[in-house]
Amino acid sequence: MPPRPDDSRLPRIPRERGEDHAPDVVARRRRLCEGVRGVELPHLAGEPVPSEIAAGNIENMIGYAQVPVGIAGPLVVDTSDGVREVYVPMATNEGAMVASYSRGMRLLSEGGGARARVLSEGLSQHPILVYANASDAVRAGEAAVSAIEEWRVLTAEITRHGALVRVEPQVLGRRLVVRLVFTTGDAIGINMAANATDRIARMLAERTGALARYVHGQDVEKRANARALVEGRGRSVVAEAVVSRAALASVARVAPEDLVQIARTYAVGYAQLGTQNWTVQSANGLAAVLLACGQDVAYVTECATGFLDFDVDSGGDLYASVTLPSLLVGTVGGGSGKGTARECLEILGCAGAGAANRFAEILAATILAGDLSLMAAFCSHEFVSAHERLGRNRPDGG
Ligand code: NAP
Repeated sequence: MPPRPDDSRLPRIPRERGEDHAPDVVARRRRLCEGVRGVELPHLAGEPVPSEIAAGNIENMIGYAQVPVGIAGPLVVDTSDGVREVYVPMATNEGAMVASYSRGMRLLSEGGGARARVLSEGLSQHPILVYANASDAVRAGEAAVSAIEEWRVLTAEITRHGALVRVEPQVLGRRLVVRLVFTTGDAIGINMAANATDRIARMLAERTGALARYVHGQDVEKRANARALVEGRGRSVVAEAVVSRAALASVARVAPEDLVQIARTYAVGYAQLGTQNWTVQSANGLAAVLLACGQDVAYVTECATGFLDFDVDSGGDLYASVTLPSLLVGTVGGGSGKGTARECLEILGCAGAGAANRFAEILAATILAGDLSLMAAFCSHEFVSAHERLGRNRPDGG
């Protein structure tokens, strides 16, 4: 597993028992993030964000929603840009969740950290064209593939950072699903891809005599689906780590064998559910980081697709991995460059161009940390007590 970065051993996050939410304690943690990254975080501190910068993100605006932001970490992760040590900003109202991710990050760090890599990139779109019969649909699919160079030129006219990489037709009766796969630079890229897809589908439909065309034909957008798990969409990422038996015993009071056993039990349950999410709490961490970092949170439906895997390695330690085939995230575009979202990406060292893969890799390592911690809490039967201690709000004082 990767060595910790020599020059930046981040301190543990300061906490003050009994007054942990007092303004000066909150400010101390914020100053820690500012100092570590050499940035200022005025909007996280409460400075208003001008309403004008929300143009293009919202209609009929009346203000901003407020969700508390905490940091988990430090997380040590070997990314494709080298080893990084970061605090991870999370926006949530679920008490105990940030503490759970922080504990998982500690477990990962004890073994030298996680390693995460983007395995592939490709935002797919799936227009459907309808023909008189299946033979016509097959012929149109062949025409779609043979015109790929033309579609590439057309895509390049629409976007400087996006590119068409694959055309994959699939016939469903007399309907043709045209799977178009784009790289999208550092953006999620849905606007650029949708624009190119609309034009490609229109031209193909005219040329091949389609009876009807639907740009969002097979609508994979923002829903859990089999393609998201098997083919992937956006950035497909794996994060892995070896966690020592000793660290598991001292930090989480479990053994590697306990975690392997509980993961097997969960797998049986997931198989019966027919779910595409074989992780434990990826939706929690994903929603919290996506919200903090100005992403389109509805994509958590697809992002939370994936697998968690535990094994005991030859040295008796725990091997742990998560595979997330469909991370739809960007460090450019959408809300990522604005207000608190920009500041949270700066805390991660992932703001702007050139950072999207690194962001996806840090995100995957974060999800691994959270799943490790939660599975350990289930094994040691500490899950309910942690929520009772950290996560209860009793509005009626009861
Ligand atoms: P976008 O902000 O629409 O596009 C990204 C922009 O950044 C493009 O103009 C691109 O220019 C430019 N850019 C500059 N540097 C870049 C770089 N390094 N990498 C990539 N692009 C760069 O963002 P998007 O990701 O395509 O769309 C995300 C937004 O669409 C989200 O707000 C989401 O909520 C929304 N959305 C749209 C749909 C839809 O169907 N249209 C569906 C769901 C969500 P070039 O284009 O010239 O490359």
